Amino acid sequence: DIVVLGTFVADLAFKAERLPVVGETLLGQGFAMGPGGKGSNQVIAAARAGARSAMITRVGQDSFGDMARQTWSRDGVDTSHVLIDEAAPTGAAFIFVSSRTGDNAIIIESGAAANLSPADVRAAEGLISGARVFVTQFEQPIETAIEGLRLARGHGVTTILNPAPALPVDDAIYVNCDFVTPNETEAATLTGIDTATDEGALQAAASLVRRGARNALITLGAKGALLHGEAGTHFVPAFKVTKVVDTTGAGDAFNGGFAVAIAEGRNPVDAVRFGAAVAALSVQKPGTAPSMPTRADIDAFIRA
Ligand code: ADP
Repeated sequence: DIVVLGTFVADLAFKAERLPVVGETLLGQGFAMGPGGKGSNQVIAAARAGARSAMITRVGQDSFGDMARQTWSRDGVDTSHVLIDEAAPTGAAFIFVSSRTGDNAIIIESGAAANLSPADVRAAEGLISGARVFVTQFEQPIETAIEGLRLARGHGVTTILNPAPALPVDDAIYVNCDFVTPNETEAATLTGIDTATDEGALQAAASLVRRGARNALITLGAKGALLHGEAGTHFVPAFKVTKVVDTTGAGDAFNGGFAVAIAEGRNPVDAVRFGAAVAALSVQKPGTAPSMPTRADIDAFIRA
């Protein structure tokens, strides 16, 4: 039902008292490794939320590639269009965190996923045409995202573009988006409009719709989300969470959940609520993919 085009990245987080300076070797205070990458996080969120889900990407023939396949197979994600790149490594992110200040310094290398091409997407046309919802982001080459959106729209599949990280793009991309889902900062980068106020967020959403998107859906962290476009204009508040543990991946949880609800035929406002519930559950657990809730958890949370 849901096809996600995007990246897998192994996240390796090192904690030390402070960040190292040039030429320095520091003893660490902790290390954690886990599956990441926006596309992979979103496909896991969708699969756990109850949709048949498939991933289109490239990984290397290495241990992080094994980690990716294990991550997907545990949640039943269809990997028939995951290509193994013999020449490139699987994507990885090294994250240094200062335990004193919380500051971080990160290097992300997309590895094999940087080689994802429009031709790879065309090779998955059969998979895409059979989906209800197609989701992509900007961690792989943009022309590849453009080709995926174009193909999906051509087959009448509902398209969701999560434009993250925010990069300068030609407005033509928005014409094939049913929903474009930036967070506050991404919306500001894409439109040049300050989104700090409700009024600013609405102006940014209107700007994305003027450029051709059917709907803009701007997530506003703990405030909630703003939906604007063919579905009307709706501010949907976030669920109140008393104990926030880790908000990394909140947007991925939201997008995966939103896609599932749209695939199930819910109206967009209900779908935003469903996505918000998935995100609210995910921020109460550490990690990104491992923090995604199951359908049983989501239904119980919404009923409560
Ligand atoms: P990103 O993770 O991409 O920066 P946001 O921070 O906008 O995205 O969060 C996405 C969605 O996750 C929000 O619209 C909201 O529904 C939910 N969310 C994020 N932070 C919280 C929080 N502290 N409490 C409850 N829900 C949250």
